Amino acid sequence: MPELMKWFESVETDAPFDTCKVCTHPLEFSETWVVNKHYHREECVMEYAVCEECRDEVSGKFSEESKAAIRAFLENEIDWEQRMLDWMALENPEKRLEHCVACRIPSFLPSGFAISAQFRQGGTLFEGALPLLMCSDCVAKITATISPESREVWRDFVARHFDGPSNGGFDLGIF
Ligand SMILES: [Zn+2]
Ligand SMILES: [Zn+2]
Repeated sequence: MPELMKWFESVETDAPFDTCKVCTHPLEFSETWVVNKHYHREECVMEYAVCEECRDEVSGKFSEESKAAIRAFLENEIDWEQRMLDWMALENPEKRLEHCVACRIPSFLPSGFAISAQFRQGGTLFEGALPLLMCSDCVAKITATISPESREVWRDFVARHFDGPSNGGFDLGIF
């Protein structure tokens, strides 16, 4: 198994994700899905796959201003043209995850990071703007740009689908 795929397997089951965290439907019935994992130091503290429909539903609850703020951050803080050139030159796509996509800090330096990848029917990993890694500082910066209402949408999503004392304490996932 390519190492990049391994990164996006479930730590809990040690296998690829097969159901959507939100609607619990098998992912094989979805055209695309996204896998997000949050790490604190070496430890994966939150992981989930979400199907296309549920992802649209959650992000649809964000205000227009918040969506625009997230878009602005991604457009202004990330040199996509350069990033795509860098990524194309990699001999191993796993190396995408060695630096934060935005600030370029090596991923082992900050206290945490989030990784995100998009899959297509059949379970193939789609290589485009994703997969990527974002350090916790940059994720926190995005979280700070969105409205309190939109942060509430995210907190609600976390509270509803994850248990544990740290409910709502996580920064925004990469949606
Ligand atoms: Zn779903
Ligand atoms: Zn960063």
